[in-house]
Amino acid sequence: MGWGENPLPWSATPNKIPAPMTEPNDPSDAPPAWSLAQSAELYQISRWGAPYFRINAAGRVEVGTEGGPVVDLFELTRDLEARGLDLPLLIRFSDVLKHRIKHINECFRRAIEEYEYDGRYQGVFPVKVNQQRHFIDEVVEHGRPWEFGLEAGSKPELLIALSAMGTDGGLIVCNGYKDRAYVETALLAQLFGKKVFVVLERLEELDHAFAAAEKTGVRPALGVRAKLSSRGVGRWNTSTGDRAKFGLSVAEIVEVVDRLKERDMLDCLQLLHFHIGSQISSIIPVKNALREAAHIYGELAQMGAKMGYLDVGGGLAVDYDGSKTDFHASMNYDEQEYAYDVVSEVKEACDRKGVPVPTLVSESGRAVSAHQSVLVFEVVGTNGVRSGGAAPDHPGEGAHRVLDELYETWENVRAKNLQESLHDAQQGKEEADSLFKFGYITLRQRAQAERLYWHCLDRITALASRVKTVPEEVQSLEEMMSAIYYCNFSVFQSAPDVWAIGQLFPVMPIHRLDEEPTERATIADLTCDSDGKIDRFIDFEDVKRALEVHEIRAGERYFMAMFLNGAYQEILGDLHNLFGDTHAVHVSLEEDGYEVASVVYGDSVREVLGYVEYEPQEMVERLRLQAESARRRGLITIENVRLLMRHYEESLRGYTYLTGDSDGPADHPSVPPPPPLQNPKPAR
Ligand SMILES: *Cc1c(COP(=O)(O)O)cnc(C)c1O
Repeated sequence: MGWGENPLPWSATPNKIPAPMTEPNDPSDAPPAWSLAQSAELYQISRWGAPYFRINAAGRVEVGTEGGPVVDLFELTRDLEARGLDLPLLIRFSDVLKHRIKHINECFRRAIEEYEYDGRYQGVFPVKVNQQRHFIDEVVEHGRPWEFGLEAGSKPELLIALSAMGTDGGLIVCNGYKDRAYVETALLAQLFGKKVFVVLERLEELDHAFAAAEKTGVRPALGVRAKLSSRGVGRWNTSTGDRAKFGLSVAEIVEVVDRLKERDMLDCLQLLHFHIGSQISSIIPVKNALREAAHIYGELAQMGAKMGYLDVGGGLAVDYDGSKTDFHASMNYDEQEYAYDVVSEVKEACDRKGVPVPTLVSESGRAVSAHQSVLVFEVVGTNGVRSGGAAPDHPGEGAHRVLDELYETWENVRAKNLQESLHDAQQGKEEADSLFKFGYITLRQRAQAERLYWHCLDRITALASRVKTVPEEVQSLEEMMSAIYYCNFSVFQSAPDVWAIGQLFPVMPIHRLDEEPTERATIADLTCDSDGKIDRFIDFEDVKRALEVHEIRAGERYFMAMFLNGAYQEILGDLHNLFGDTHAVHVSLEEDGYEVASVVYGDSVREVLGYVEYEPQEMVERLRLQAESARRRGLITIENVRLLMRHYEESLRGYTYLTGDSDGPADHPSVPPPPPLQNPKPAR
């Protein structure tokens, strides 16, 4: 099915839950009717996902771009698994990346046209946001029509930018702390036709620039990064202002101008840069910063600097929760409004000062790269406290009073006494706990009390969902009563910002979306760290403490995915518990299906052990000697020695995540040659 024929266009996000699709007089044992639109509304997919992700007629998540081909994410995952790529799997969609780059460029083009701006836009992608080679190669390829360039924040990133960019017209902007070698490299690269800007972050870097210019004979293309007095908002609001880590104060910028003038090098100063932080959720600080920077730009031009470029940095946000608000996981503007504001503020300031308008540069990282990657993982176990509505066993004749009371509390839960019932249940449980401590009831009786308590809470939360005004205490039971879904991935490796800064990413099942999700769950990862969890989820109004998920059916697999995680997560990911990089594949969509353009195998156990200086061969040998000595002493049979050694060696070659293969993981593809793909195609 093409993109246009889907039964659920984005614009049709219903405000009301529509009528069930099945007839009301269906056989009574059929599952309750649930529509695709209800799932779309519940997971807000059309708000954060448009125009790339939506639910298809089969009740699964579908990926594509407007008017282009689509792929069923569940089927794609199964296909990739069939090729030996175990979950968790990071899938990068080239078409989505291409669309993001095009979208941002077209927003600027439209703004330039509408405001009759007499200049152009030339964006750069900040390499620090996702340095993976295949990804950067795609940024360069898809950005070529717009002469989209790269921004480097360190020497290694400059090396990436220089090799990746070729000489296709895109700019290279060098930020970050620089030493002599960094500056000299940047200058020399200008000699083969690249436009490389060295942006001064500190005054000392000007001396490096002078020295490098003298040594190489190249006139540097310089920029200055301004510490604006206008602040960003949210987490990164200290990226600018007087105490900012980077940038030159106004006094220092004036000093740069004077020193360049002394050496007759004022023509070298061509660019003004600022960056007020990332994920700027409100447009107001963006406008304030733009206005201030545009005025500085105009003054620099009036002071005789050559200028020509204004680089507005990053900060363009991503609407992770789809709420279109200034909440930290959202944004109260869109890419087009951003472009209009950049263009109009700069034009106004330049017109007023009578200086020609600059080429506009922006360094949007998050907004370019977040959407293209999806992490698919699997639920490997659950742990719930819900009774599923079943009645508890009666405590029986002559049971302890505390048990009788808890049973009675359960029997008497009604919609109008929810809070009172909750207090009674809590009191009963506390009493049982202290009776046990002083030896008045047995462990078995305490267990009975605990079960009755959960039955009470279960009944209270079930009734709470049917009443209009729920007491606050009862509302907070939701989280406590939610199940834990254990999933095959590591938060620290694949979504470190969830742990580090409480970042929200959309998470949802990728199939069974035509069924009602009857469970509430939080997500736990494979690490033995209690922080390795997701227990805050996007919500239209606030943040949900539990996610609606489906009941796991015996013998069936359940796949979930985390979306919009293509910015920062991969490189910030770490090896906690030695869970390594996941497999990553690049998928491009075709009219008749899809193509796996490249596969980057994740770490094997052997590789992550190598990072912490273990030598696998030596480990095998040490274990073999211990086994051999145990065998000599008759403690272990030869067969068991062989089994142990086989598991040990196979595990070393295997994926660091659970592979669910009890006979030991298959040879890990990253060590021996990768398995053949069905439609092999050279990496781009
Ligand atoms: C991190 C960074 C960016 C990217 O910011 P986003 O919010 O991801 O767009 C751009 N420029 C500089 C100087 C940065 O440090």
